[in-house]
Amino acid sequence: MSGAAAPRSAGPYLGPGYAAEPARAPVRYVSTRDPLGEAVTFGEAMLRGLAPDGGLYLPRHVVPLPERWEDAPTPGALAAHVLPPWMSAEDDARERAEVATALASALDFPWPVTELPGERYLLELFHGPTAAFKDVGARSLARLMDRELERRGERAWIVVATSGDTGSAVADAFAGSRYARVALLYPEGGVSEVQERQLVARRAGVRAYRVRGTFDDCQRMVKAAFSDEALAELRLSSANSINVGRLLPQALYYLWGAREVARLRGERTALRVVVPSGNLGNLTAGMMAAAAGLDVAGFVAAHNANDYFARYVRGEAGAYRFDPSVPTLSNAMDVGAPSNFERLLALFGDRLPALVRGVGVDDDATVRRIRSTFDESGILVCPHTAVGLEALAQLRSGGHDQIPALLLATAHPAKFPEVVAGAVGKAPPPHERLEALRTAERRVEGLAADPTALRGALLAWAERDDDERR
Ligand SMILES: *Cc1c(COP(=O)(O)O)cnc(C)c1O
Repeated sequence: MSGAAAPRSAGPYLGPGYAAEPARAPVRYVSTRDPLGEAVTFGEAMLRGLAPDGGLYLPRHVVPLPERWEDAPTPGALAAHVLPPWMSAEDDARERAEVATALASALDFPWPVTELPGERYLLELFHGPTAAFKDVGARSLARLMDRELERRGERAWIVVATSGDTGSAVADAFAGSRYARVALLYPEGGVSEVQERQLVARRAGVRAYRVRGTFDDCQRMVKAAFSDEALAELRLSSANSINVGRLLPQALYYLWGAREVARLRGERTALRVVVPSGNLGNLTAGMMAAAAGLDVAGFVAAHNANDYFARYVRGEAGAYRFDPSVPTLSNAMDVGAPSNFERLLALFGDRLPALVRGVGVDDDATVRRIRSTFDESGILVCPHTAVGLEALAQLRSGGHDQIPALLLATAHPAKFPEVVAGAVGKAPPPHERLEALRTAERRVEGLAADPTALRGALLAWAERDDDERR
């Protein structure tokens, strides 16, 4: 730590033990399970994915937002302005410039805001290559990781459990990477046809595994691989939202959304922020943006039937009393045991219920909301976005305050043509990139829902990969 100035509090969003420190102090990362234990650089935390004790990495302190962050003209410029102090090992101008370049090249697509009646603002995060907001985190992570691996002269194996959109975003972002290989695990029958097409498209350095189990099985297998001695020789890393390299860039679009809404309204207002949630990475990133100084009127965690977290913040479920996941129409949020719950507790502790409202939305209400949104505005939304819109409507009709709301639109409606057509009576217009995948070459292997099956697949691949590299 530079010790240049005394730490100061950053408002109501920080839990015990956290302080906002001057932007100059290099940030170190600690495990949620041992905040006073080993502290590592951002690069190390990113490559490890999980901490050795099984916890998730968090920054040891929060860097306050820099002056005039609202002036950045593009998402890439905003990233380059805000994030380098979080991601540099030293207080070093050259390293910060490299990080800024990596982020700016990753975030080269727009995040437009569309206004809906009732002071609702939809932040469209699906204009990246795989048509879901996960492109933001995945593309940033791929560029940051390649930079770190190149610097070290190492390579890494990234193992990802996906309930839909993560896998394709990660595969697309890392395809052709010189230093990283990607193994994707997804639940058989647990992703839509379009999602599956995206997952199994053949890409250099990427393998897809269709697991005969649920998303939670996939996540369990990935966790087991990380502590598997037999895989110690491969440098395993993660690209789920448990990875800090994906998490932190997601904080940016909350800033961007607030800035765009301020422009549309001609004034700055603290917004209610509605987050369609599954594994809670998205929500955690937003709450970290608030911890860094973004003025927010409160968060809404909008869940489908997998609503453990909503019940937790309402005081109806105990900490870590997770349920098995159940399939829904908004399947990228079908998560029974959200990994980032652990982060939220570590960051905000007992104050979570005061900072977040939780709502669970069933499939019928989701479909009705897709239809009513189309009827009132002509806009088609994906089922995840509809869960957010419905959650807000339920809060407002319950006589809750009418604060203007920023709602995250997380996927393009064309990724869910059956659900959207079922709701409004016609299919969404085709999406060019998604259509092109119909004829793309495929590569996928079936896998039992068993950690040893994954071990075998990875070792066999690594052996052949070594051969190919000689
Ligand atoms: C992943 C995903 C979510 C949920 O985000 P979490 O970070 O897992 O809470 C919501 N909508 C879509 C379209 C997604 O792909």
